[in-house]
Amino acid sequence: MYKVIVIAAAWAFLTACDSDMAKDDEAAAQGKSGAAEKVTIVEVASDGTKKGAVTVDKVVRTKEEWKERLTDQQYAITREKGTERAFTGKYDKHYEDGVYKCIGCGTPLFSSKTKYDSGTGWPSFYEPVAEENIAEETDRSFGMIRTEVLCKRCDSHLGHVFTDGPRPTGLRYCMNSASLDFEPEE
Ligand SMILES: [Zn+2]
Repeated sequence: MYKVIVIAAAWAFLTACDSDMAKDDEAAAQGKSGAAEKVTIVEVASDGTKKGAVTVDKVVRTKEEWKERLTDQQYAITREKGTERAFTGKYDKHYEDGVYKCIGCGTPLFSSKTKYDSGTGWPSFYEPVAEENIAEETDRSFGMIRTEVLCKRCDSHLGHVFTDGPRPTGLRYCMNSASLDFEPEE
């Protein structure tokens, strides 16, 4: 009998949490005004050439929708600001010609032309394919001050940018392979 009560209580608690989270997600999905927020990004050909700016709706999805589209690892990294273990990502030692896009929304982020081996175990680039396509935020987690890099269109966490990169920018965009999808050059 006691067991049954405990299980029932736990179930009631979990159900309550779930519905609260669903409400938060719904509010986030609708945005403050109810209208979809717009964002201007630059379209890029598969050889990394810029094609021009386009204004599109921001990609906003509920937690459940993201979980359906992404693997557990992709979700943990892009939506919960996780980091893949060094030297484990599929694009760390990947040097084909093409464009790396956001796993969450397909926005072009980096060209293979700016990719280099930083030796860190994460895919590294010295500049984004278009400044317009990324957002940067100050990240004070883990007792460090770092600059977080996010996708401008869907707010997926991509990685961080550091100032110890190579010429010509001196920047090192240290990305998670799990946040990226590669489109080979045609
Ligand atoms: Zn995105």
